[in-house]
Amino acid sequence: MRKPIIAGNWKMYKTISQAIELANGLKRELYKIDSQDIDIVLCPPFTALTEVGEVIYGSNLQLGAQDLHWEDEGAFTGEVSGLFLKDVGVKYVIIGHSERRQFFGETNASVNKKIKAALRNGLVPIVCVGENLKEREENKTFDVIRDHIENGLKDISQEDAFKLVIAYEPVWAIGTGKTATPSQAQEAQKFIRDLLSKMYNNSVAQDIRIQYGGSVKPENIAELIKQPDIDGALVGGASLKVDSFSAIVKNTLGAE
Ligand code: PEP
Repeated sequence: MRKPIIAGNWKMYKTISQAIELANGLKRELYKIDSQDIDIVLCPPFTALTEVGEVIYGSNLQLGAQDLHWEDEGAFTGEVSGLFLKDVGVKYVIIGHSERRQFFGETNASVNKKIKAALRNGLVPIVCVGENLKEREENKTFDVIRDHIENGLKDISQEDAFKLVIAYEPVWAIGTGKTATPSQAQEAQKFIRDLLSKMYNNSVAQDIRIQYGGSVKPENIAELIKQPDIDGALVGGASLKVDSFSAIVKNTLGAE
């Protein structure tokens, strides 16, 4: 039985004081939830990691970052490494988000190096994959997913593959209000699990958690999470408010 995982990607929102307020609100709203039942991850901007980490320390909320560099240190102006994320108490890190692929030149090769850097530093990678609208319309969804998974996970050992979280995020559903239907998401996520089974084995494939991401809201999470290959959500917009993010967490558990 895979434990559900709900992660909030705060993107480039929230100053330090706003981030503290949001984290405190979520802590208050979600304190009754047992961390044995669900992993809840907050991914604020780098600037607020330390303060959010302090707010949620010892609670059922965990700290995540939105990206990392593939080296641990060096002359890479403006970058933040896995070593430094670990240093401020980060446990999870989003890698290969479509906004990074689209605007910052992220490729499968850089995703692959970043996954290795995260694992080397004891961080759990949340690896994002998914097709854009044009690719879906041209029936290339499975080709794109295969490309992201096979090349993104190149040379990742079976032992390390167990530690990954995959986020299936159809780009056309991110921030658009358009959610993939539960059956569209399930179809893609089953494809991912079958692919992982071929690349590794069935036991690895059955253990890896696959989140869905793309306009997840309190109203649609219950139907999504009922799908056999959907193990949680990566949430953007709705993670920025206490009410909506805590309702997503509660509705995830309520639907099980
Ligand atoms: C995301 O950024 O990963 C995301 C899924 O955003 P939204 O929930 O706003 O679509």
